[in-house]
Amino acid sequence: MNGFLPFTKPSIDEATIAAVAEVLRSGWITSGPKVLEFERQLSAYFGGRTVRTFNSGTCTMEIALRIAGIGPGDEVITTPISWVATANVILEVGATPVFADIDPVTRNLDLGKVEAAITPKTRAIIPVYLSGLPVDMDRLYALATKHGLRVVEDAAQAIGSSWGNKRIGSFGDLVSFSFQANKNLTTAEGGCLVLNSEAEAKLAEKYRLQGVTRSGFDGMEVDVLGGKFNMTDIAAAIGLGQLPQLETLTARRRSLAQRYFTVFGADFERQTGAQLPVQDFQNSNWHLFQIVLPQEIARAGFMEKMKARNIGCGVHYPPIHLFKLYRERGFREGMFPVAESVGRRIVTLPLFPAMAEADVERVCAAVRDVVL
Ligand SMILES: *Cc1c(COP(=O)(O)O)cnc(C)c1O
Repeated sequence: MNGFLPFTKPSIDEATIAAVAEVLRSGWITSGPKVLEFERQLSAYFGGRTVRTFNSGTCTMEIALRIAGIGPGDEVITTPISWVATANVILEVGATPVFADIDPVTRNLDLGKVEAAITPKTRAIIPVYLSGLPVDMDRLYALATKHGLRVVEDAAQAIGSSWGNKRIGSFGDLVSFSFQANKNLTTAEGGCLVLNSEAEAKLAEKYRLQGVTRSGFDGMEVDVLGGKFNMTDIAAAIGLGQLPQLETLTARRRSLAQRYFTVFGADFERQTGAQLPVQDFQNSNWHLFQIVLPQEIARAGFMEKMKARNIGCGVHYPPIHLFKLYRERGFREGMFPVAESVGRRIVTLPLFPAMAEADVERVCAAVRDVVL
């Protein structure tokens, strides 16, 4: 009997564990030299752009919206198929979330529908790169420029992804990443924001820590309302251990994803009615390997049968607009039919760097067995 295979698992090596222990012994465990060094290395990774770290991807997004000056009366367009954090941060800053439907093939925002959703109140777009697959970045930024909109990229799943020969985060407007435990690069919890200028970075630092600036009468002044969102040196030490391995870990994910396509075979979709992801081995970092089940297969039953075969699956994600909090704001079933159809049937299969080729084969055999 094979052991239980989870849908994901972080890859933390012994050197990283030792580096964390060293921070714990050092006497300085919260934001300090490790955070500064992690920000410096992230900046180098993103082609020299300015970077600040935070204690979650969610607060990173919220701070990005505040830096863009978005608040009450403003509309922000995003996708219904994302982690609920993506829309919650829009509500958190007092703005209005506007959803646009997704593309059934990429499962990302349909940019044509984004353009149709623009009103005189629209101030920003939050694209999400589900499973690490970016949207058409040229078209996204052409659209934003044409309508004078800010872009806050929810690149939570897209560290290590690229657009052609450019890394996601190395270009664009405000780009937000998450380092939560399941993400391709983790600090246990955490996030970082790629910014456009030192002025934006100063603002990010204020929002990160109670609005405090090092100036004014007593060497300290508070002039905006900030919160408590700083990353610890413990977390930064994990990130510093992960970053040099990112390319190798991403290559391993790509290779396992390729193995999935090979083992499922060219006839899989026609035989089963299930849909495989876009075969993108250039841009995607393969954060998740997601299939969309055929109409007639109930997802809960599928997942139970996979679990009985010792295979863990995930749901990323149910449509945000159908959660009670959003229905209370006027969203209804039927508004975004593609998102609703995909959101009911999407399943995440196991994919993480420490998985073996034999695990992929086991998953494929189990999926065929359950679906056919
Ligand atoms: C993980 C994730 C977030 C939130 O990040 P946290 O670090 O968990 O706060 C937001 N959006 C997407 C698409 C995510 O995958």
